[in-house]
Amino acid sequence: MTGAFGTFWRPDVDLEAPVDLTFSPAEEAFRREVREWLAANVPNPPLPSGDSRAGFAAHLEWERRLFDARLAVVSWPAAYGGRDASLWEWIIFEEEYYRAGAPQRVTQNGIFLLAPSIFMFGTQAQQDRYLPRMASGEETWGQGWSEPEAGSDLAGVKSRAVRDEAAGGWRLSGQKTWTTRGAFCTHMFGLFRSDPEAERHRGLTYFLVPLDAPGITVRGFGRLDGDEGFAEVFLDDVFVPDDCVLGDVHQGWGVAMATAGSERGLTLRSPGRFTAAAQRLVDLWREHADPADTGLRDDVTAVWIDAEAYRLQTLGVVTTLSGGGHSGPEASMVKIFWSELDIRIHELAQRILGPRAELEGPWSKGWQFSLSGPIYAGTNEIQRNVVAERVLGLPRK
Ligand SMILES: Cc1cc2nc3c(=O)[nH]c(=O)nc-3n(C[C@H](O)[C@H](O)[C@H](O)COP(=O)(O)OP(=O)(O)OC[C@H]3O[C@@H](n4cnc5c(N)ncnc54)[C@H](O)[C@@H]3O)c2cc1C
Repeated sequence: MTGAFGTFWRPDVDLEAPVDLTFSPAEEAFRREVREWLAANVPNPPLPSGDSRAGFAAHLEWERRLFDARLAVVSWPAAYGGRDASLWEWIIFEEEYYRAGAPQRVTQNGIFLLAPSIFMFGTQAQQDRYLPRMASGEETWGQGWSEPEAGSDLAGVKSRAVRDEAAGGWRLSGQKTWTTRGAFCTHMFGLFRSDPEAERHRGLTYFLVPLDAPGITVRGFGRLDGDEGFAEVFLDDVFVPDDCVLGDVHQGWGVAMATAGSERGLTLRSPGRFTAAAQRLVDLWREHADPADTGLRDDVTAVWIDAEAYRLQTLGVVTTLSGGGHSGPEASMVKIFWSELDIRIHELAQRILGPRAELEGPWSKGWQFSLSGPIYAGTNEIQRNVVAERVLGLPRK
């Protein structure tokens, strides 16, 4: 293991290793500590949406409290604000976090997507520079992949990086779009075309960009649910020094795929999010549903079972990773599963609540957001292509 979630492949890893489903006394003690801290600290009433300007600021205060309690990034090294917790403890933390109904993590694109890639590809200086400020929420990160003409076809990005030898860095130009919380973040990580002559996947470099650099214009815009959750980021001859390159020059595709693996697989959407939502759905069914409607009851039971199945599958992944294995294109199957499960959970809530659904803020908003799950982190059509070609070994055509 190379810190937090970074992993490398070892041929001696037993991919069929049995999964130990019992937690140790130390892990149970950790669970109790987290549960008690969350019970005493989770804001009530809940914070406004972290995808609004005021809500984002309130969420950053919450992130600071988590950080001060050393609960913001439990699996990171203590030197960066973590606890050197195991992946098992991280899973426990996540279960307790969602169980407590704690605020959404507005730092997620940094701590869950970028950080594993910094652990894997970053220099020591980059790790020391970026990780502590990311953990505390002092610096927040948006993801600069998509462009107006490059979404699913990420290797088609046109934003350019031109070498400035004299100044010891790069000049970035182009446009990124759909940057989640980009209007509020301090930084963006993104892919830029550094060698226009190279084959599409080769001439790309991964940059870490401060959004207050001269030449950057950030324009926030609203989502269908009314929140200013997105931004367009325009770059006009923006200078960034060499130490803003993550990984090797022209090798950004490999770094980006590691980041995407975190987004689809283990870190962005841990099972605690879905087991907690499925349990809330069962509670909602108990409170509001007609028990004679056995079809509805069976559907609610099925999503509860599927959330548990996702949890068990994840424990299998953690067993593999803890044994030194790696997570590969299988992450695409996981992404399809959790995004479709999320929709089913929220659609069932709509069915249970009927006309009252629109009055139930969290379920209604959660349903709207769940509909975007098959799109972000790479659309499910693309994930099905990945599964077909790289997991099942089917021909491309
Ligand atoms: C809530 C949300 C948050 C997002 N946050 C970010 C962010 O922070 N940063 C960022 O960079 N982007 C972000 N995105 C953008 C997201 O990554 C893109 O929307 C996604 O990659 C699809 O790209 P596109 O919208 O350009 O659609 P297109 O690529 O134009 O695809 C249109 C349709 O064609 C299908 N399609 C395309 N190619 C194929 C193919 N080869 N085989 C089969 N079907 C295909 C797609 O599945 C889709 O249904 C976010 C999106 C959403 C919804």
